[in-house]
Amino acid sequence: MKQRATIPVFIPEEACPHRCVFCNQHHITGKAKAPSTAQVKKIIEEHLVTLKGIPHLEVAFFGGSFTGIPISQQQEYLEVVRPFIERGIIHSIRISTRPDYITKEILAVLKSGHVRTIELGAQSLDEEVLRLSGRGHSVEDVENVALMINAHGFDLGLQMMTGLPGDTPQKSEYTAKRIIDLGAKNTRIYPTLVVKDTDLEILWRSGDYEALTIAQAIEFSIKPYLLFEEAGVEIIRVGLHPSEGFLSGDDLLAGPFHVAFRELLLTEVWKRIYQKIDCPEKKNAITLVVPEEELQFAVGHGASNKKMLQNRFRYVNYLPIKRLEFPGCSQVFSLI
Ligand code: SF4
Repeated sequence: MKQRATIPVFIPEEACPHRCVFCNQHHITGKAKAPSTAQVKKIIEEHLVTLKGIPHLEVAFFGGSFTGIPISQQQEYLEVVRPFIERGIIHSIRISTRPDYITKEILAVLKSGHVRTIELGAQSLDEEVLRLSGRGHSVEDVENVALMINAHGFDLGLQMMTGLPGDTPQKSEYTAKRIIDLGAKNTRIYPTLVVKDTDLEILWRSGDYEALTIAQAIEFSIKPYLLFEEAGVEIIRVGLHPSEGFLSGDDLLAGPFHVAFRELLLTEVWKRIYQKIDCPEKKNAITLVVPEEELQFAVGHGASNKKMLQNRFRYVNYLPIKRLEFPGCSQVFSLI
């Protein structure tokens, strides 16, 4: 039984004044019109039918920047959720927004509307990457607002992107370290995709931007992933998921889109662990102890890790055990 579930409500920002190079918000959300409060209530009620018995239910306002819409509209949406919270049916609210769309006044509105988590699209904590990506905010904006959010008692989420214009694996690693230092409780790692009708499409077509391959995206994302794991920052998502808006159809022009990107990344993590096994001679058998929830990654996407090991050992056995019985696990991860 799942311990918690999220009811997503997409609120596209109909007139976002910004022009981040990677974003075509209508394509990302797949919807251009904000739902009415009646529609939001209906979305929640429909999800509740299928989520019976789950101890923690959260409503998440995703899409554009929630705090970019008029305050009265934010309050109207939050008021829809209030009765569910007061009756103990919904337990928390999450919103996502831009770092420069938060003020003390807005935080007060969110607080009184029972919002628990504020997720900021930080994307990078490198000034040049932010500038080249047309984000329209600075590193300092992210840092200042992260402090405010923490000081007001919200849970802070900081999303990052890898492979933006000007980004390098080192800058992505630095961004992850800063996200941890800023006290984020959760994060998402999104490798950059080239989407139709964006400025990144123009840069890509002119040759001024080269899209990451999947292997490169893993290289950019692996250190951030391991740093977050080690620091206990919850990694909500790695890679864009089809449920977030589009499949690899006409909208997606280039970039490391893969429905199982997280699996590929964790396959690489375990591959690097297994490559370190020191075994000069071909041995008969090896038994590999792995936390049970990591088993599919230890075996690898398409059993690639198992096949690699079978070239060195006649028999390869995996012994899945509960993570608590595997105290070396996080240390092993940090060795990579
Ligand atoms: S990613 Fe940038 S352009 Fe897209 S909705 Fe957010 S702020 Fe606006």
